[in-house]
Amino acid sequence: MTDGQDRSEYQTYMWVVAHPDDAEFSSAGTITKLSRQGKRIILIQVTSGNRGTTDRSQTPETLGTTREKEQLEAARREGIDEVVFLRQGDGHIVPDIDLREKIVKQIRIHKPDVVITHDPFRPYAMHPDHRGVGQATHDSVYPTARDHLYFPDHLAEGIEPHKTAEIWYFGSEAPDVFVDITDTFENKIEALKAHVSQVGDGAKLDERLRERSRELAKDQPFELAEAFKSVKMNR
Ligand SMILES: [Zn+2]
Repeated sequence: MTDGQDRSEYQTYMWVVAHPDDAEFSSAGTITKLSRQGKRIILIQVTSGNRGTTDRSQTPETLGTTREKEQLEAARREGIDEVVFLRQGDGHIVPDIDLREKIVKQIRIHKPDVVITHDPFRPYAMHPDHRGVGQATHDSVYPTARDHLYFPDHLAEGIEPHKTAEIWYFGSEAPDVFVDITDTFENKIEALKAHVSQVGDGAKLDERLRERSRELAKDQPFELAEAFKSVKMNR
């Protein structure tokens, strides 16, 4: 990582994403790399992407089941330790207090050092679920997950508040953490190919993503990158 921050003490990285395949398109090279370093990786899947098709033979139920299976296979290929499906409505995400409660609870349970999500501040971002999950996650990390008077039912269940050290946004226009994925780029493609309902045989993936990853690494001393905007918090 390129910003000089010492992250050797960090143990747990938690991705919070809107749809199956969002973590892979944005971050599979980074996930694989961190997993190989022995870090614990948690994936919170807010929707199961059960409206993301043009295939009229599919129903939300059949598609949701398929996409959860695909996500679990992608996670296995990347070395993700745990996937949590929140099963919120695909296309219906609003960053309200109910969604925040669900994300706060996961942060308090898994106690991540870094939470990674969609950049909700990216101008003209198209997908409402991406904006909504980014916003709700941003608002969950600080101050909601860290202070016990927010959602006190959690404490009653034995779930303690938690202070996250950093939040990272993918899809940002102002990234400052560039991860060298040259050695895990092939794994990224393999993880994405698990999402058969979305990428088919994945024939074009390599070319398209290699170009994008090269572009992100253009000012770095390595060939292929994934990039994040980081916000650090006192804890
Ligand atoms: Zn998405």
